[in-house]
Amino acid sequence: MHSRNGFSERDQRELLRIRRLLHRTAEPAFNEHRTGQIVEETLRGLGLEVSRAAGTGVVGLLRGGTAEGPTVAIRADMDALPVAEQTGVEWASETPGVMHACGHDAHMAMVLGAAMVLAPMACQLRGNVKFIFQPAEEVAGGAEPMLNQGVMDDPSVDMVFAMHVSPDYPVGSIAVAPGYATAAQDRFILEIRGRGGHAAFPHLCVDALAAACEFVTGLQHVVSRGLDPQEPAIVHVGTLHAGEAFNIVAGSARLSASVRTLSDAARTRVEQLIRGRVEALCAVTGITADLEYLHSCPSVINTPEAVEVACSAAERALGKGSVKRPVGPSMVGEDFAYFARHAPGALIWIGARPEQGEVYPLHHPRFLVPDATILAGVAVWRQIALSLCGSS
Ligand code: MN
Repeated sequence: MHSRNGFSERDQRELLRIRRLLHRTAEPAFNEHRTGQIVEETLRGLGLEVSRAAGTGVVGLLRGGTAEGPTVAIRADMDALPVAEQTGVEWASETPGVMHACGHDAHMAMVLGAAMVLAPMACQLRGNVKFIFQPAEEVAGGAEPMLNQGVMDDPSVDMVFAMHVSPDYPVGSIAVAPGYATAAQDRFILEIRGRGGHAAFPHLCVDALAAACEFVTGLQHVVSRGLDPQEPAIVHVGTLHAGEAFNIVAGSARLSASVRTLSDAARTRVEQLIRGRVEALCAVTGITADLEYLHSCPSVINTPEAVEVACSAAERALGKGSVKRPVGPSMVGEDFAYFARHAPGALIWIGARPEQGEVYPLHHPRFLVPDATILAGVAVWRQIALSLCGSS
């Protein structure tokens, strides 16, 4: 018996078993060894060509019966988070202090489920379907080495997709729109060196703490005065450490900050403004400073063609009204950006809000993706592959 997602009940049960195994096996970024094995064994069992990339990453290639045709890639992330699970499920994480609190177990299961339903119909497909399992999304470190190792080449990928579960949308729906989906994610660490001394003799000292405070306050001007008001951006100072005692002038200070932008132009502009403020701070306060500015992934930009494919596939797979408008670009980072800048693509939010019970956010120790989300995801993946590589 087959349901609308093309899945026999036996295959559905098998997929949910694998999902629970993946959830139980939660491993942190770049340590997805057992996870990678489970993925590799499943793909090999389906007869796919399997290769490894970026250490623990896995790529499965399904060649269609007709070589001419597009190559579509669907990508899942593999890593879990340093969160101690509190879901209470019997198949909870067996790794102490590590949990699939961002639903990457569900992402992997959805892509494996797509491989399970598409593999038996390979001869009816034109082109290829690539199933990409990427390590280390949470530290934005896994995507770039995969690309550098050529996972988007040979055969070269024409369109690439990823799905991320979201408790903002109900089970059985997706949300996707053209344009920015997530933000570029940079950060910086600023080490400030002044000259410590006695609180009674400030004129003989250079107060690193006062300079740091001035810098943090001044940073608020970067977005509000330095950027086009139409440009969303965040400059957030998360830590500031300085000082030893009430009667001592702090000789050093250290702060760290997160910088999130959508456009590449805003990203460059914000960095320039921050660098300029550090120079100005040195000039007016007499401190010296070391600025370590670290670039992570760029923003995800969904291309209109890929969004169109995703929306019509979801309407077919999940029914009319199943496509929601996203609440807007999210200022989170997602290193799928590297894939989506290599080929036209889209990051799709897939609904994971349960019909009843408490709703927990991503990264919460009680966050758990419902089985129904995974089955809906498989149906959408299948339909996306069929609309691009179907023989009709
Ligand atoms: Mn995630």
